[in-house]
Amino acid sequence: MKGNKKSKGKIIIVSNRLPVTISKRKDELKIQQSPGGLATCLRAIQEEEKAIFVGWPGYWPANDKEKRSIENELINYCKSYPVFISPAEIGKYYYGFANRTLWPLFHYFSTYCAYEESEWIAYKKVNQRFFQKVFDLADPQDTFWIHDYHLMLLPALIRKSLPQSSIGFFLHIPFPSSEIFRVLPWRQEILEGFLGADLIGFHTYEYAQHFLNSVLLLLGYEHEFGAIQVDNRIVKVENFPMGIDSLGLKSLLEESSIQKEIKKLEEKIWTEKRKIILSVDRLDYTKGIPQRLKGIELFLEKKPEWHGRFTYVMLCVPSRTKVKHYSLLKEEVDSLVGRINGRFGMPGWIPVHYMYRSLPFNKLLPLYTIADVALVTPLRDGMNLVAKEYVASKKDNRGVLVLSETAGAASELGEALLVNVNNKEDIASALTQALDMSEEEQARGMKLMRKRLFEYDVLHWARSFVQRTKDVKKIQSQREHRKLNVKWEKKLISDFKKSKNRLLFLDYDGTLVSFAMKPEQAKPDVGLKRLLFSLGKDPHNTLVIVSGRDRTTIEHWLGKVPCGLVAEHGAWIKRDPRHDWEKQKSISGDWKEQLKPILKTYEFRVPGSLMEEKEYGIAWHYRKANPELGQLRSSELFDYLNEFLANTDLQVMHGNKVIEVRVSGINKGDGVMPWLSEKKWDFILALGDDWTDEDLFKILPAKAYSIKVSYGPSQARFYLESSQLTRSLLHKLVRIQK
Ligand code: UDP
Repeated sequence: MKGNKKSKGKIIIVSNRLPVTISKRKDELKIQQSPGGLATCLRAIQEEEKAIFVGWPGYWPANDKEKRSIENELINYCKSYPVFISPAEIGKYYYGFANRTLWPLFHYFSTYCAYEESEWIAYKKVNQRFFQKVFDLADPQDTFWIHDYHLMLLPALIRKSLPQSSIGFFLHIPFPSSEIFRVLPWRQEILEGFLGADLIGFHTYEYAQHFLNSVLLLLGYEHEFGAIQVDNRIVKVENFPMGIDSLGLKSLLEESSIQKEIKKLEEKIWTEKRKIILSVDRLDYTKGIPQRLKGIELFLEKKPEWHGRFTYVMLCVPSRTKVKHYSLLKEEVDSLVGRINGRFGMPGWIPVHYMYRSLPFNKLLPLYTIADVALVTPLRDGMNLVAKEYVASKKDNRGVLVLSETAGAASELGEALLVNVNNKEDIASALTQALDMSEEEQARGMKLMRKRLFEYDVLHWARSFVQRTKDVKKIQSQREHRKLNVKWEKKLISDFKKSKNRLLFLDYDGTLVSFAMKPEQAKPDVGLKRLLFSLGKDPHNTLVIVSGRDRTTIEHWLGKVPCGLVAEHGAWIKRDPRHDWEKQKSISGDWKEQLKPILKTYEFRVPGSLMEEKEYGIAWHYRKANPELGQLRSSELFDYLNEFLANTDLQVMHGNKVIEVRVSGINKGDGVMPWLSEKKWDFILALGDDWTDEDLFKILPAKAYSIKVSYGPSQARFYLESSQLTRSLLHKLVRIQK
């Protein structure tokens, strides 16, 4: 890694393929810009943001000399840095793990998945190779933007070696439901790979939710509005529907060569008096091509009046022909087309005009323009750009888009005729509706969709993603400032040393001990008791343990420590071991009887959860339950109780894997008041991890050392990462006393 600290920072865009293509003809290497919206957009971003590209050039050099020459040419030509991958590795990493495991799994074709250890190893190795390349190129201020399922381990590899870096990751394919994702043998490594990023982007809200659910289910991390806390970092998960290069498309459409081509096609159609139905896909099993053909066949069976009056132009681009399921699909499609044309064709008319090839975009655009109907019916598709390109090409607002509801594009193009691709009746009737639709009706939908496509184009998408990645980094560094770093720890220790009247408030669970599966398992170990004894017996210290636990447990565990105790979040206090418990408020606990059956129902509905009765409160813990179910039911219970108890003086709290109901006005802030108001203290320390500790933090004087023992938002002045660090801090204080 270079150490250019002055640079504002560049963007390192990493994707499997570079946005250029290399070919060799007669011993001469040729480099060409790749076509396509994403490549165009990334080039625009490159100009705005000083970006460089890292990726596979799609070519394996014959020798070292050729390798160096490609490297130099690519850097000079388009600031691209190649990662060379041998044909054998491509076989395992690209055709293997990426396209025989991840691609089918993420598109819900789990029965097509191969789980080959050697392919997984190749995937890891190639991700590592990408890492080495970006590591060599990176400066500390740089932002990484990593693309797609080929490189899902890369964010964590970068994070490990460059912990301060700003990393965005965007997945261009769907993220499946957690029930599908969990079958992957290497699911944990993949999720951890993702979580190395600061920002994780998906095309749709649903994919983002599926990802968040998998993270919860498999790694146990909850999220709050798409923010996951991973160690001492916030990772944001958001949706950024990718747009197309609408303006580029518009200006291409105006070129005279394109206009000429359109005219030629229109004249042909006019002579034949046939409507044009168009589909454009890679020949991929996710694209639903056989299902679509069966829909067409049904349409032909049901609507003889349309025979001879349309042509279905089906452009299928050869794809991943080396993977078995793709060649099987080709056979199936060939045979279906043959069957339909054989059944319904007549002299001068074949219903399906099948082209198995790719077309350059300038040849595709005239086809979009003249097509009356576009059939975009994938079984699953991350986004589907063809649907958007078709709409954007409709300058005159004529044309109908029939779109699968399982394409990512469907969440933005709701005015299209949405179909369930597995239902051939649905396809046939959408086709009838599309062919019969009046021009006014066509224009109504088209106008709305086009407006959206021109507003949220691919450049807008890229800019907002890059900006958001930088924003998340800013939020993190603001929080980072609150960390109790070496400098602040020194100051705290020196203030402690100088002071004579010290007040120490320590929360128990999550602050002094880590959480255990069952609440009763988190009892204090000998080391902790010794530590608290040492702190409590110093005449200059007043130590108070401020807990949400019931008074019996807390007294049983810590009753002999020379300290004050606060139980049930402030309902009870015990000034020192010789005093009795005092009730903070005179309150009745009768209300609990009414709530018990409700909480019991939840205990029954969520296996592993349990109800805990306290003297002045009642709690439902779900730490041991299935995390996804626990989160779902806890939000449900929280809402229900809030409504149920709306006009009472009871308060519902959602703590760390617990929902608790208690009488309002009882909180840790009120609980510690007798000590706080006792005298003028010259040193106050308060440590707590949960939001119930916020009531305590907020009543402390500004100079007090309030410390939250976790990274989340807080009223506390500082934060520490774990209960181990809390103990180590307290040990340092004890050593000073001696
Ligand atoms: N495309 C093309 N020539 C063809 C067929 C497709 O240039 O013969 C382009 C098309 O314009 C679109 C992209 O390939 O931009 C296909 O993207 P989409 O999201 O629809 O499908 P993917 O192939 O990425 O699954």
